[in-house]
Amino acid sequence: MSPPPHTTELAARPISVVTELPGPKARAMIGRTQDYLSPSLIHVYPLMVERAAGCMVEDVDGNVFLDCQAGVATASTGHSHPRVAAAIAEQAQRLIHICGTDFHYPGYGELCRRLSGFAARIPDTSADDWQTFLTNSGTEGVEAAIKMARYHTRRAHLIAFRGGFHGRSMGSLSLTASKTKYRRHFGPLLPGVHHAEYGNLASIERDLFARTVGPEEVAAIVVEPILGEGGYIVPPREFLPGLRSICDRYGILLIFDEVQTGMGRTGKMFAAEHFGVVPDALVLAKGLASGMPLGAMMARKRFMTWPHGSHGSTCGGNPVCIAAALATLDLLENSLVDNSRRVGDHLRARLVSALAGAPAVEQVHGLGLMIGVDFRTNELASAVAQACYQKGLLVLECGERGIRLSPPLMISEQQADDAADVFAGVCRAA
Ligand code: PLP
Repeated sequence: MSPPPHTTELAARPISVVTELPGPKARAMIGRTQDYLSPSLIHVYPLMVERAAGCMVEDVDGNVFLDCQAGVATASTGHSHPRVAAAIAEQAQRLIHICGTDFHYPGYGELCRRLSGFAARIPDTSADDWQTFLTNSGTEGVEAAIKMARYHTRRAHLIAFRGGFHGRSMGSLSLTASKTKYRRHFGPLLPGVHHAEYGNLASIERDLFARTVGPEEVAAIVVEPILGEGGYIVPPREFLPGLRSICDRYGILLIFDEVQTGMGRTGKMFAAEHFGVVPDALVLAKGLASGMPLGAMMARKRFMTWPHGSHGSTCGGNPVCIAAALATLDLLENSLVDNSRRVGDHLRARLVSALAGAPAVEQVHGLGLMIGVDFRTNELASAVAQACYQKGLLVLECGERGIRLSPPLMISEQQADDAADVFAGVCRAA
């Protein structure tokens, strides 16, 4: 199936802001429906999207934005990649749903097999080591990991990190500790969850194990290999290997939440590859299916001891989402993971030089196309994000006073340069 012509045409367009923002149509449409929406939704800026292609997003007023947030780091192959769209359309005509927990269909097993092959790129493991449970989202993947770890170890306690974000359902929310607003008034949360300081091994051994919980009671340590929502922070080199050895010493499962860092975002398929640490389980979602709702909880076979019927999902691993994921994997494998590393290095270097001496900015950090910029204050970060939107560049805040740039992994060097120019201009004026 050839891509609809508008799709390719939009992908090649430059930033173009032709109305005040929000434009008149967006303002009217938002105003008409706002009262019907849950007030818990965020809506970081009043963007009413009409369509999107590649890295470009067009709103209902005809304004064209360069997307450096990719639907919160999810549109990995670019918006509506023609091959992903074709795979979805083709699958939707054959089989939309039958329930992967109760029945077989070809894509489910094929996706799990291919994910095992990618996991084998982490040193000291092989494809035969891994089994996968598919979900509808990242938070459900984390829930599956918690249940699998508790079942296998027969231990109740879990360790997570301050600054970590793992989702918003009650189990994963209990691990999330990036902002109080996510947790306030939702308790009591899951008992037995302990938070340590991210990047600090001593806060587990010398604090938690000495004062709060015995290591023999802990089922799992759940960690993002690079903090996502908590600020795009790369931990010190020794941190993840240190967690591995603590887990080995006490029979604790090490679970990597790669919902944001996985699927090429950091310039390798999984962030675990950068650190040479094999987790016992890893959770994927976001970029896995280019924006279709799909997550995965992968674990090493010897820990997948939960029996027949103990966990399942009606729509998790839905055939249409799997078709999108298989097309996504082809694209990531062929060129986009490499592009993430190459253009990521380029964009980070451009930002470092363009932002040198900007008084509002503290530092630029990250890996691949997971780039964080820290500001002196939270107010400055918010003002810069809003000013970028006004100039046609979409970015999101993260951490206490940061902005994240996480464009689609197919972003070109030219588009990265455009993004850096707009971003640096706004930062210098802040
Ligand atoms: N884990 C991490 C690291 C995330 O960044 C997110 C979402 O941002 C989640 C879990 C939750 O994923 P979802 O929103 O798909 O439930």
